[in-house]
Order: sequence, then C-alpha cells, then structure tokens
Amino acid sequence: MENKDNYQPVYILSDGTQRSTGKSAQRMNIMAAKLVAEAVRTTLGPKGMDKMLVDSMGEITVTNDGATILKEMSIDHPAAKMLVEVAKTQEEEVGDGTTTAVVLAGELLRRAEELLDNNIHPTIIARGYRLAADKSQEILKEIAVKFNKKDRETLLKIVETAITGKGPEDKKDHLAVLIVDAIYKIAREEKIGDNSKLIVDREDIKVEKKVGGRTEDSELIQGIVVDKEKVHSGMPAIVKNAKIALLDVPIEIKGPESDTKISITDPNMMQSFLDMEETMLKKMVDKIALSGANVVFCQKGVDDLAQHFLAKKGIYATRRVKKSDLARLAKATGAKVVSDLNDFSKDDLGQAGVVEQVKVGEEFMTYVRDCKNPKALTLLIRGATSHVVDEISRAVDDALGDVISTLSSEYIVGGAGSVEIEVAKELKKFATTLSGREQLAVQAFADTLEVIPKTLAENAGLDPINVLTELKAAHDKNQKWAGINVFTGKVMDAWKEGIIEPMKIKTQAISSASEVAVMILRIDDVILSSKGPVQGMGHEGLE
Ligand code: ADP
Ligand code: MG
Repeated sequence: MENKDNYQPVYILSDGTQRSTGKSAQRMNIMAAKLVAEAVRTTLGPKGMDKMLVDSMGEITVTNDGATILKEMSIDHPAAKMLVEVAKTQEEEVGDGTTTAVVLAGELLRRAEELLDNNIHPTIIARGYRLAADKSQEILKEIAVKFNKKDRETLLKIVETAITGKGPEDKKDHLAVLIVDAIYKIAREEKIGDNSKLIVDREDIKVEKKVGGRTEDSELIQGIVVDKEKVHSGMPAIVKNAKIALLDVPIEIKGPESDTKISITDPNMMQSFLDMEETMLKKMVDKIALSGANVVFCQKGVDDLAQHFLAKKGIYATRRVKKSDLARLAKATGAKVVSDLNDFSKDDLGQAGVVEQVKVGEEFMTYVRDCKNPKALTLLIRGATSHVVDEISRAVDDALGDVISTLSSEYIVGGAGSVEIEVAKELKKFATTLSGREQLAVQAFADTLEVIPKTLAENAGLDPINVLTELKAAHDKNQKWAGINVFTGKVMDAWKEGIIEPMKIKTQAISSASEVAVMILRIDDVILSSKGPVQGMGHEGLE
C-alpha cells in the first residue's frame, strides 16, 4: 500500500465485509436472540398455542415443540442461531424443556440489556450470571426430591406432565401407561457403587407412527414393528419359529445386463437371456433357503421373479426396509446384517417366535414378536391424521426423554412454575450477600427465572402480575411447590397435583441458557464476510 500522507485510510477488511462493533454489535445480537425466544414463548405450557409451519414444498407441521419450531424456521442471524443451539442441546441432553431453555436465554438477555442501559459493563453482567447459574444448580440439588426407581406412580405423573397440552387431552392416561410400561420392560439394573440404577437405551424403544384409528388404539408391541408388507401374496401371512435373514443387498440381478442395450436378433437369444437371469435369481433364493431362513428383511429391492421363488419356498420377505429397522431387528433377533449373499450362512440368522403381517388401519405392517432379546419394543402411535400422529409422537419422545433422565439422575422437582419461583427466592437471598454491581446481575438472573410461571400464566390468559404476586407470597410461607394451575388460575401445590418433572430439565436449561447469554454478551465485534461460504447469513440478518 502506498503511503502518501498521514490521512490515508488503512483497509484491513476486504470489500463488502460488514462490521459492527461495541454497543451496536451487542444490541443487535441481543435483539436477534430475543426475537427467537419471542417466537416460541407462546407455546410454553399446557395452555400454550401451536405453531403452523409450512416449508417450501408446502408440507405442513403443526406443533407446540420448541425444538421442532426452531428447526423448521430457517434462521439466519448468527446470534439467533446460537439460541437455536440451546434448544438442540436441550433436546439431545434431556429430550424435553426446549421451550423453557430458549425462553430463559431470551429473558436473560433482555434483563442484561437493562443492566447495560444502566452502564453496567458486560463482563460484570457475565460474571454475575455465571455465579448465579452455579448457585442455582446448588439450590436445585437442595430442593429436589430423590426419586425411587420403583415408584411407578410418580413416573406416570412425570409422563403426564410432559404430554399435557400436546395432542388429545383425554387420551393422556392411556399413552402414559404405555410409555411407563415400555420403560420398565426394557430397563436393566446396573450397579454403580453401592447404588443400583435402572438404565434405559433410548434406541431400544421404537416409536412407529400409523395414521388411521384412534389415539387410544395406540399400543405397545413387544418386539419390532416394521412398516412394510410381504412382497408377494403367495407368501405365508404368519411364520412361527421364524429364522430371520437381514440383507442390505438387493435380491435382483444388477450389472451390465440391466443398463446395456442388447440387440436381439433371434427369439432364442432372448429366451436364453431370460433363462440365465432366472437361473441366477433362483440361485440367490436357493442360497437363502439353504441357510434355513424363512423370513427375509431386505433393505433393497426384491426382483419380481425372486419374489415368486421365495413365495414358492414359503419364505416371508419384505423389501426396502429402513436401515435403522435392520439395526433394531439385528439387536432384537440376534441376526447379523448380511452384505454379501455368497458368504451367508445359518449363523447369520436371527430368531423370533412369530413374524406376522397385520393390517393396521388401511395398511399392512410386519410384526416381529417374541424375540430372542425381548428388550426391544415398539410404541405404535395411532391417530386420525398425520399431523395428530406426528404431534403425539413428539410428545411421546419428550416424555421418554424425561423418564430416562429421571432414572439416570434420580432427582425430581415440582413443575407449573413452582421450582423456578423457589430457586429465584433462594437466589435473591444469595444476592444480598454480594456487593455492588454483581448483586444486580444475580438479582436479574433470579428475576429471569420468574419468566417461566409468568409465561405459563400469560399463555393461559391469566394476569401475570397477580399470578406472580400470589406465587411469591405462597413461597414466602414456605410452600415450596406452589405453582400455577393454568386451568383454574389458582395457586396450587404442584407436587400434590402430580405436576412433576425431572430435575435434569431445569439444570440443563439453566446451564445452557446462561452459557449462551454470557457468550452473546461478551461479543463486541461482529465481522460478516461477504465471501463466506454461508449464503445469506450476512447483511439482511444484521439490518
Ligand atoms: P418445554 O418445551 O419447555 O418442555 P412445554 O410446553 O412442555 O415446554 O411446557 C413445560 C412447562 O409447562 C413446564 O414449566 C411445566 O412445569 C409446565 N406444566 C406442565 N403441565 C402443567 C400443568 N398441568 N399445569 C401447569 N403447568 C404445567
Ligand atoms: Mg415439555
């Protein structure tokens, strides 16, 4: 660069790069994050509303689930994306509480903005928030109640709390029983020190959806349900004492024959060509039959002719089975997934008491029951339309996550806003022991927690100020689980009413919300490259 005089500007960023620094960077990030929180906040709680999401293909999703909403919204702004990450982490770590986590993060930032307006430096706010987050975790552990792993009644309440407000209300008892039954069937006891815990692998419960029928027709099937029918009507509809082959290769002739054009000049030539194909398919089927298999799940295609041969041998076969289903079938039946028919033998086969084609609604499915390893189950969710079925399955997923968290962390708390008010109360006491500006940040953190009962009230059409005042008064009288009954508007004992949640929802939500809030607060410089690999992430997002 030439330097003719002292006033020559120095360019360090390439053309088209946008940069915002200091307060304006901070404010824009906070604004973006708040908008994300605002978008999901109306869905919180049993009286929360649903969102209708329409994608570019016109596919419709109607949901109340925070993680799903944020996944489907195409969010561009970098800070807003960080908030979406909070929901994802919550979904992965717990499976429930995504809206709670995002609403908390948004409120932490809103409160931080007020502190910034009062000239409190972001690093002080960040430090206060961290301190408050740690203290909240301590308080939570103190007020939480130990869960006894055999306590089926409480587990039912936890499930009901998770699914309240999602899908048909009157069917929630039935679903809760199915979920708790499923969990106790597949849980295994594991010794950890002097203690023993029930461990559940989320993968061992398959949630299969079927449109048609009523929600109360949903059922728990001991085994695997595969959403496929047998490929040929000549095949048996039921196979007892099933010897199961799992193939991830097609039972078809591939190779040059199928792509290359062959000019056939003589009808005999055509015949010999077809004969050859037939012989090869027959050999493949013979190979399968020789192993002793009487059921085949094939991840790929099955040729028409092969279907015919399989049917003649009395073998039940399905095709285009999902890879994840093959994996589950392998686990449940002891079969090995075979990739090469040439070295396939009876050692690769799995076993099940019964494999059967069953009509569910208007369609056929294959049930694999009485498996060698009965610790694989299917929850078959039924409902009138695909939107209903989808939303119920999401609620079931949340509930499964809650139950698994409850069993692994073993602590539970009251819901309906009670735990948040209790933690806020203790946190405010802690704040008074601090000096100066940090105290204000911890105070703000405590006020933030109150956004949960406040939003539950708002979403139920109640007056949030009145509700908060009444709740706080109850907590001051040491009613630790005083929460808001969103149906009556009255203060209730959430614990007695069975509104119970795993502590993990709250610890995870608090830690990820505070982490992201601190991270956003500490950013004072946003540089958006015009050449970045991410299209459209820049300018319009920052305007
Ligand atoms: P999230 O995605 O955070 O789980 P939800 O929409 O599932 O959001 O709402 C969870 C909140 O609703 C929790 O604070 C929980 O305590 C509260 N809640 C659940 N059932 C009830 C109920 N019957 N009455 C009041 N609050 C409830
Ligand atoms: Mg929930």
